[in-house]
Amino acid sequence: MRQPLVAGNWKMNGSVGSVRELLAGIKAGIGAIDKCEVAVCPPYIFIPQAQTELAGTPIPWGGQNLSTETSGAFTGEVAASMLLDFGCTYVIVGHSERRTLYGEDDALVAKKFAVAQAAGLKPILCVGETLDEREKGVTEEVVARQLDAVIKLEGIKALADGVIAYEPVWAIGTGKTATPEQAQEVHAFIRGRIKTRDAGVAEKLRIQYGGSMKPDNAAELMAKPDIDGGLIGGASLKAKDFLGICKAANDSV
Ligand code: PEP
Repeated sequence: MRQPLVAGNWKMNGSVGSVRELLAGIKAGIGAIDKCEVAVCPPYIFIPQAQTELAGTPIPWGGQNLSTETSGAFTGEVAASMLLDFGCTYVIVGHSERRTLYGEDDALVAKKFAVAQAAGLKPILCVGETLDEREKGVTEEVVARQLDAVIKLEGIKALADGVIAYEPVWAIGTGKTATPEQAQEVHAFIRGRIKTRDAGVAEKLRIQYGGSMKPDNAAELMAKPDIDGGLIGGASLKAKDFLGICKAANDSV
């Protein structure tokens, strides 16, 4: 049985005050969530605050991105060791906003996955197709290519302790959620593709769904056999909504 993981991707949102309020709200409700892992990924600048405010709670935190470099003249970048220094457990790699707005390609994302894992962070690898790709019927091809870039660089065992987030790009921040059937189809494809290489890894691997997940659509998504939690954008910025999704994941176990 896989433990679901619900992670909040705060993107570039927040202030010292709003982060304090959001974390206090999540902490107040986390006691009722005992079967699902709950994590938050604040902007880099708020990670020390998250570390202080989440100390002693079961809530891990992580980065939204990292550099492939370890140190040096890379203005604006943050290294894996720095995330670890501030207690991060997770780091998101290959989010579609990084891929489309900052030109991160499969090879760079695979490198980030490798660097994160080598440093001791757990990478959350985002994969997913655009609307155009879905309409052209190449969803599986795109997801396979994004996945294979990591497998080619790191080997199948690298996924054993990793997390994959299937995030159809057309569903991110648009209010259009994939139907549970659409999501399950791709999740099953991902697990099946990994299973052909290593059944043990496939069985253990957590595959989150991401894309306009809300408290009122979370339960039907989480009920699908290959959906193991969610990567949550907009709804992770309100404690009540985020906890509603966490509860749906918790109840799905
Ligand atoms: C995301 O950014 O990973 C995401 C899923 O965003 P949203 O929930 O807002 O669609």
